[in-house]
Amino acid sequence: MKLSRMGAVASAVVLAASLAACGSSEKNADKATGSGDTKGALIGVTMPTRSSERWISDGDNLKKQLEALGYQVDLQYAEDKIPTQTQQLDNQITKGAKLLIIASIDGTAITTQLENAKANKIPVIAYDRLIRNSPNVDYYATFDNNKVGVQQATSLLTGLKVLNADGSKGTAKGPFNIELFAGSPDDNNATFFFNGAMSVLKPFIDDGTVVVKSKQTDFKTVAILRWQPKVAQDRMENILTSTYRSGAKVDGVLSPYDGLSIGILSALKSNGYGTAAQPYPVVTGQDAELASVKSIIAGEQYSTIYKDTRELAKTTVTMADTVLKGGKPEVNNTTDYDNGNKVVPSMLLQSVIVDKTNYQKVLVDGGYYTQAQLGS
Ligand code: BGC
Repeated sequence: MKLSRMGAVASAVVLAASLAACGSSEKNADKATGSGDTKGALIGVTMPTRSSERWISDGDNLKKQLEALGYQVDLQYAEDKIPTQTQQLDNQITKGAKLLIIASIDGTAITTQLENAKANKIPVIAYDRLIRNSPNVDYYATFDNNKVGVQQATSLLTGLKVLNADGSKGTAKGPFNIELFAGSPDDNNATFFFNGAMSVLKPFIDDGTVVVKSKQTDFKTVAILRWQPKVAQDRMENILTSTYRSGAKVDGVLSPYDGLSIGILSALKSNGYGTAAQPYPVVTGQDAELASVKSIIAGEQYSTIYKDTRELAKTTVTMADTVLKGGKPEVNNTTDYDNGNKVVPSMLLQSVIVDKTNYQKVLVDGGYYTQAQLGS
């Protein structure tokens, strides 16, 4: 995977270098680095956890690309523990970091660290997840998170044949039993994904095409703290026991993340799903993690949402380099990401629905995975 991603890394470096060269003003350089010379400046990168592949790729991509531009990088993972992440940020500030790139665990829990960063004139870029309730966030690099939710729900309905792949009405009329899952309530993205998905599902729930048989539809009830697969597995088990004991079948599950999908599928498996007589329901996901792509190929998980972490790293590195050189980075959204204190200027990238029909073209031809990694 690493080798196949080298091309993208190389082009990121060229892009970033040429952007820097074509003259962003140096006027804030002193503010950012104290000397105006960014060479060798330390950049602190904090990621939430190594328990999910995507964050490992994000961290690796950021580090590689920043180092290629001559920066030093302190890359830290907090294994989803808030006190660990706050301590890592404190350390990076003490060590003299000139810029912080933060993928937060709890978007509201690092306010003190951000105040400290501000006091030390250290710019902050929120990575993938919005940092909330603080004025001290300069930029946000992420995907169009509402659209990710829209895509998850669209794919669920496509899998049920309620919709065709082009969004037109499909042949199936239902009613289909579905269940809903959402991500961690302290991750701002989770609400965006859920609201995006519900904007698509609501009319079909209202007209009875799909039925949330457990009646568990509000975000708080369906949210899974810290995105833990085991918690999703237990919740699915509980729903199967409480709601489907009489013989009714689950036809679809809205899952916002591949790790949760794996937990959900395993609960379904231990309740008799995954056979010719009783196939798995349509289960969605997110991140195109290797195990889930293999599961899609094997006909278990139905789909995932692919977010090219190489591109997110590239965008963020360009942002960081521009800021450190005193320029204004490119953004494409200045309205949607209100963190409770300010609307954070954001750069949103686009995600892609991946299922059995297009994984080859998108993921293999696109160089994200090799054929050998997928074992297909
Ligand atoms: C990210 C998703 C990821 C989830 C769990 C979210 O903030 O945007 O890509 O699936 O966290 O790690």
